[in-house]
Amino acid sequence: MRLKNVPGAGEAIEKSEYAVTEPELHRGHWQEWFPQKAPLHIEIGMGKGSFLTGMAGKHPDINYIGIEKYSSVLLRAVQKQEVLQLPNLCLVRMDAQFVEDCFAPGEVEKIYLNFSDPWPKDRHADRRLTSGRFLSRYDKILQAGGLLEFKTDNMDLFDFSLEEIEEHGWKILFCTKDLHHSPRAQDNVMTEYEEKFSARGQAIAMLTAQRVER
Ligand code: SAM
Repeated sequence: MRLKNVPGAGEAIEKSEYAVTEPELHRGHWQEWFPQKAPLHIEIGMGKGSFLTGMAGKHPDINYIGIEKYSSVLLRAVQKQEVLQLPNLCLVRMDAQFVEDCFAPGEVEKIYLNFSDPWPKDRHADRRLTSGRFLSRYDKILQAGGLLEFKTDNMDLFDFSLEEIEEHGWKILFCTKDLHHSPRAQDNVMTEYEEKFSARGQAIAMLTAQRVER
């Protein structure tokens, strides 16, 4: 994602009632942030928020948290949410490496990763959000039988992710290298990157994996 520094982004996020700036204070108590108790689904690396605002509108019976590392990017999601005012959507600026500090064991039912940065160099493989290092963090915060869903246009990253997920003992429930021509196309909510890549004719890959109780 090309990053433009947006002056005042941090302050605008802090002022929004839909954003949380100290997520570690809500660890184990996220349900209290929302007006209704519901399963908690999070998206890591949400970008400008098209996917999660779409999902929150479509599934009012789920509570969603969108996580994004950069204020300048998260601000776009906050601006969308200020208009939509979806009660079941919370936006958080944080780095995913700290998820265990912000979510208690088993607090999350499902994690979405969409078009995560590929980090193509081998020496940066640990930074990929589907690397073993991140999977063990997700393992801690997901409930028994919890799900991880991943979409990308990058087939090298997809193959890497499949290998890591299987190697770390997760169960692959669904896998396609052409989501838009698969049975899951009907329910699919597109992300900003997905709109862009599929408009160019690129196939989109998707997998759903289940955390296995150890
Ligand atoms: N998910 C969006 C989409 O599909 O349109 C955005 C994809 S963009 C390629 C990846 C996003 O992940 C960027 O906004 C980036 O800032 C965010 N990101 C990357 N590493 C992250 C991390 N460690 N923690 C939180 N967000 C991260």
